Amino acid sequence: MAECIFCGIIEGNIPAEKVYEDELVTAFKDIHAQAPVHILVIPNQHIPSIQQIGEGDSQLPGRFFSVINQLAQDYGLAERGYRIVNNCGEDGGQTVHHIHFHLLGARHLTWPPG
Ligand code: IMP
Repeated sequence: MAECIFCGIIEGNIPAEKVYEDELVTAFKDIHAQAPVHILVIPNQHIPSIQQIGEGDSQLPGRFFSVINQLAQDYGLAERGYRIVNNCGEDGGQTVHHIHFHLLGARHLTWPPG
């Protein structure tokens, strides 16, 4: 899916600061960081949103969270805490239609979001 910016990052056609990749997921730094640590974790397969996750994708959720946990350790977030965000659909504020989990940390984050 050439027009998907995140597929372009996975394929190496669009530059990004990748911090992790395996056969299922890739993680890279958000281009408009909203916190000192702002990493996006995405599936290598083009899946538009979490609404398309089904039984056949049973490996993915576990991998997302184990990679996020590892990145939180690597970036020194585990002790003070951090936030994981998934924006889904228009009202959820999703702007890139390829599943991504935001990992945000290294500052105090407020709640609720806008
Ligand atoms: P969403 O609003 O949850 O869909 O988040 C999309 C995120 O992708 C935003 O935080 C953007 O800053 C980020 N983003 C868009 N294009 C790029 C890129 O080329 N590299 C890294 N991050 C990007």
